Amino acid sequence: MPAPQADFKSLKQRIPIDHVLARYGVRLRSVGPHTLYGACPLPTHTSRHSPQSFSVNLSLQVWSCHSASCIAARGGCIGGHVIDLVAILERCSLREAGLRLQDWFNVGASNPVPVRAPAMASSSAEPNRPLGFVLQRIDTRHPYLAQRGISPATAQMFGVGMYHGNGFLAGRCVIPIRDEKSQLVAYAGRAVNGEEPKYRFPAGFRKSQVLFNLDRAMQTGSRNVIVVEGFFDVMKVHQAGHPVVVALMGASFSQRQSELLLSHFASVTLMLDGDNTGRRAAEVIAQLLKPKVSVSKVELPNTVQPDHLSSAEINALVGPANCTF
Ligand SMILES: [Zn+2]
Repeated sequence: MPAPQADFKSLKQRIPIDHVLARYGVRLRSVGPHTLYGACPLPTHTSRHSPQSFSVNLSLQVWSCHSASCIAARGGCIGGHVIDLVAILERCSLREAGLRLQDWFNVGASNPVPVRAPAMASSSAEPNRPLGFVLQRIDTRHPYLAQRGISPATAQMFGVGMYHGNGFLAGRCVIPIRDEKSQLVAYAGRAVNGEEPKYRFPAGFRKSQVLFNLDRAMQTGSRNVIVVEGFFDVMKVHQAGHPVVVALMGASFSQRQSELLLSHFASVTLMLDGDNTGRRAAEVIAQLLKPKVSVSKVELPNTVQPDHLSSAEINALVGPANCTF
């Protein structure tokens, strides 16, 4: 049987770049009738001072990133078309990217319109490889952690602290990320001085393949898990006495994250941020999980995130969940 072929020309014409970016949960600002701008989503992006370097031209259906790291990674090219984009994001060949696009958007000979909702991130993505290094000189007693309400004991347990070494995480609060087998797969580097981007990750790290803190949550043997968006949400909920808590690392929910939740837990409490994105994500995730596990939602007031709450407030919310359905 011949290998499947991707019709590149047809894919480029038929699949809008912004639909593909939405599928990855990338949000860009509209700065004109045909132009979107925002933070670069590419794993090749390691520049520290290029917060808004990624742009999309909707009329030409091309993208570009003007940061040195992305240009260098592309051999001097500043951008490309939709298939290049997917090849970089998926770290696969152009041919493979074309096949994945064809599959995701169901674009065959007579299907001009993308038909799949962009709710789920890639399920065919490969797992993260264990990180080849461990950072030393992490200060778990840095004042930034106290400011965020993280106790020294919690910081120590999560291995979180200020990184005083060199490299792209220098001067950031680093958070070790382990997969379900407790293998260290990345560090998140949180800016502590308002610098953009707020979080940095090692090139190639795929958030969609991991639930932060899943390994520790699994060790408790509990079948009931709390799901939050961020690292600090996990730490605060854990500190309040609920160790069975995992983070999506954002408001996107991938097929792999769904599989991880379903294979380890029988009931899920969603406590996402109290904003439109968080509420919409909680709604979508609840709908996806409901047929398979018991799901409850804790709705937070406007602009409130779990990490803003005291232990007492968290306990008041997740004792009996606010609304179960
Ligand atoms: Zn870039």
